[in-house]
Amino acid sequence: MPPRSRYPQSERLFAHAARILPGGVDSPVRAFRSVGATPLFVTRASGARIEDADGHTYIDYVMSWGPLIHGHAPRGLIKALGDAAKRGTSFGAPTELETRLAHRVAMLMPTIERVRFVSSGTEAAMSALRVARAATRRDKIVKFEGCYHGHADSFLVQAGSGATTLGVPTSPGVPAAVAADTLLARYNDLESVERVVAAHDGQIAAVIVEPIAGNMGVVPPADGFLQGLRALCDREGMLLIFDEVISGFRAAAGGAQQIVGVRPDLTCLGKIIGGGLPVGAYGGRAEIMELVAPAGPVYQAGTLSGNPLAMTAGLWCLMELSPKLYRHLAKLGARLAAGLADAARAAAVPLQVNAFGSVLTPFFTSQPVRDYQSALTADTRAYGTFFRGMLARGIYPPPSQFEAWFLSGAHSQKDVDKTVKAAYAAMKEIST
Ligand SMILES: *Cc1c(COP(=O)(O)O)cnc(C)c1O
Repeated sequence: MPPRSRYPQSERLFAHAARILPGGVDSPVRAFRSVGATPLFVTRASGARIEDADGHTYIDYVMSWGPLIHGHAPRGLIKALGDAAKRGTSFGAPTELETRLAHRVAMLMPTIERVRFVSSGTEAAMSALRVARAATRRDKIVKFEGCYHGHADSFLVQAGSGATTLGVPTSPGVPAAVAADTLLARYNDLESVERVVAAHDGQIAAVIVEPIAGNMGVVPPADGFLQGLRALCDREGMLLIFDEVISGFRAAAGGAQQIVGVRPDLTCLGKIIGGGLPVGAYGGRAEIMELVAPAGPVYQAGTLSGNPLAMTAGLWCLMELSPKLYRHLAKLGARLAAGLADAARAAAVPLQVNAFGSVLTPFFTSQPVRDYQSALTADTRAYGTFFRGMLARGIYPPPSQFEAWFLSGAHSQKDVDKTVKAAYAAMKEIST
């Protein structure tokens, strides 16, 4: 007789879902395909804990893929949302909440002189690209292998994480003509950008980059890389777009740009800016953003853009950011990174832990990971074994080797220590 599954309810719900939702999910990486498991169906979550349909609880490191910097369902947020919902869930007319959130964003990120709210990171990046093309009257863009900027056509070329794990670097359905305007360079390799720029002199509107890459797993920028991009963009009349959908309000309250001291022309935001509700935003220099309709001719709109519930969640989330929170996250991040590395060493499993503050990725490889090529040397089967072992011990890591682990203010040192203890056991299952 086969061993009884630990997850009968999740399996039943997933089978039902797969008959009506393609692949049983609404976003591919949720399907757990690359880790050889059935997705957990979630019933509830609170703080750093998440509960599945079979009644197991886990310390959560997915954290909705980044937005939940204050943990699941913080009390203040739930109250603010309840109060807002009583006043109405959507008006399709301006509210003061949008102006307030915009000022908060601009205060935290001074390069954002004007901002437009949208409903996802995908929308933020595709709209920023449209403005960049309008501002420069050029069509081509440079993106980096392994960086992800949402699922708009122009960006679905070597796009990391979901796409990487599935082995579909480019999606069918993206017109060849659109993909042809997307030029690829290598992350942390300025010379590769120079080469692309030289080959397309005067045709490139913008360079878009995750200033701290998170979608091929965490890969921090090498010294001078972002500064070099800034200088190159200035020299060539290209705009520099920072996609801070993950790093914004996470690497620091002012995002990666605050830490590295590089000023992008445009910034894309998402995830934390909505505090767990669907919000994205793009913004930057006033003269560029004033091209956006109705101030200017670049059309971009949204029925639920600036939605009052979403703005309320974003405001609550950004008002709660504090130096104390970032100190806590940095401490936990360092402890978790060191603990995972120790656990691997004890089991003689090759591992490289890339960490930046409260995000990290344990790459199952002996090679330092500084770009997409080196990320791909990771042993995804080993990660799958590790993942299933962690799950069985009450820890919920991201279900893909090429995703970031996210910490929140709700995680404690005890949670991290429990996670490391589980990792010691799970690593042994790889080496045996
Ligand atoms: C998640 C992500 C996006 C896309 O955001 P969605 O809200 O999923 O559309 C874009 N860029 C980066 C860097 C991301 O991590």
